[in-house]
Amino acid sequence: MLLNDDSILIVGAGTWGCSIAIELARNGYSNVTVLDGEEVPSSIAAGNDLNKIMEEGSQSEDDTDAAYAWNRLHALCTKAWLEDPIYKPFYHRTGYVMAASSDAAFASLLEDIKGHEDEYRHVNTAEEFQNTMPRGVLTGNFKGWRGFAKETGAGWVYARGAIVAAKRAAEKLGVRFITGKKGEVVELLFSEDTRAEISTPRKDNGLRIGLDAVKTADGTIHKAHTTILANGANADLLLDFQSQLRPTAWTLAHVKMTPSEAELYKDLPVLFNIEKGFFMEPSAETHELKICDEHPGYISPVYSSENGKILGSKPFARHQIPIESEARARNFLRETMPHLADRNFSFARICWDADTPDRMPLIDWYPHSRPGKRNFLLAVGGSGHGFKVMPAIGQVVLEFLQDRVDERTRRALKWRPETAVNRNWWDVQDRWGAEGKVMDFGDVKEWTSIGESRDE
Ligand SMILES: Cc1cc2nc3c(=O)[nH]c(=O)nc-3n(C[C@H](O)[C@H](O)[C@H](O)COP(=O)(O)OP(=O)(O)OC[C@H]3O[C@@H](n4cnc5c(N)ncnc54)[C@H](O)[C@@H]3O)c2cc1C
Repeated sequence: MLLNDDSILIVGAGTWGCSIAIELARNGYSNVTVLDGEEVPSSIAAGNDLNKIMEEGSQSEDDTDAAYAWNRLHALCTKAWLEDPIYKPFYHRTGYVMAASSDAAFASLLEDIKGHEDEYRHVNTAEEFQNTMPRGVLTGNFKGWRGFAKETGAGWVYARGAIVAAKRAAEKLGVRFITGKKGEVVELLFSEDTRAEISTPRKDNGLRIGLDAVKTADGTIHKAHTTILANGANADLLLDFQSQLRPTAWTLAHVKMTPSEAELYKDLPVLFNIEKGFFMEPSAETHELKICDEHPGYISPVYSSENGKILGSKPFARHQIPIESEARARNFLRETMPHLADRNFSFARICWDADTPDRMPLIDWYPHSRPGKRNFLLAVGGSGHGFKVMPAIGQVVLEFLQDRVDERTRRALKWRPETAVNRNWWDVQDRWGAEGKVMDFGDVKEWTSIGESRDE
């Protein structure tokens, strides 16, 4: 059992790392350090974003452990977004409009709301879509779109704001944040026995191995009683997850609005066509409107030199998007807000998250820890929908640390390499859009040059 003054190290001060940090600090843990390779909010954090979609509760009705745990995470996070003074200011309960263009995607939307149909209003014609927002916002013809609107119980969160607020509150309670080279973890140092001298990392050869320490880019060795790995899509670069994590990237771009446009676009519901893209209202501070083109994601495959098979996907940072992604985003604008479709983008980036095969988080003790000496917890696998559960992640991690997590949650979130044997790296995992395929960054011919001088 963890004592309140035991040292705890969190690797990653992104969405989940900051949630864990504030939860530990609030619960009296006085010796918590968080490491991140960048200042918070990190430019590579999936959560460092203008907005993320939030739905209260979950529609999951079956009785699997996964549905149970997902419903639980939703219940915990909903309470926090509605009531917790740290998170509450960032939740905008605007409702949303969900839509699809093809019959198959629309059928899947209907499947998602089964049993809850009375909470939704059907939206089918261009006029009905346009009327979901103030006049002048949606000017498109919505050709082929069908969907439904939900006026309450959903909306969006100001994602970057929530991360920074959790970080600041944790800091006030004594959590130390070490960022930059001093916080960039380059190696996990394992040994066969945690009492031994720090040794070079070694593959699990059937012996029990424990985490001794982590090494940062400045050469410092950080030792702690308990270490938590929460560095998102980059976790796979530090530890062999046996194919349980697939770093997958999505694409986003910003359009700069005028102050009067931003005023008109205030308090809008989220508009999400699961095959085309989505947007939420512009940032109150910068007046930027974020547009995402929707697709099953890009990967950056790493191939085995022995048999040519894919071993995984390797994330890289880029503050541009493929030209084909820009074209999809503009097409989405043309169908919804043609008056913005040709406006320059002011910012764009690819944004990585780690997909587990079942899209459930992976929160568990590293299985090779020495019996009776659990000291290394994993909290990864946002799987493209891990922002809304941010406040719940810290709470569930605390349950693991205090050895009081319930059996069904534990089973749903456990280390589960058996689910990733011969993983299909091209699996769309119930996502739609683009050509209906996971795409390979290696096939991208051209990228945008947003904000770059063409003469350079
Ligand atoms: C384009 C896009 C849109 C999304 N939209 C939604 C949405 O609408 N709703 C929703 O619920 N979810 C959404 N998600 C998913 C959600 O953003 C992620 O699931 C969630 O943010 C993951 O949190 P994380 O803490 O695991 O990772 P991150 O937030 O990425 O944090 C990881 C942190 O680890 C740090 N780090 C990385 N490597 C190291 C290292 N070696 N040493 C130290 N620190 C390191 C990084 O700098 C970063 O701060 C979206 C994701 C993307 C990409």
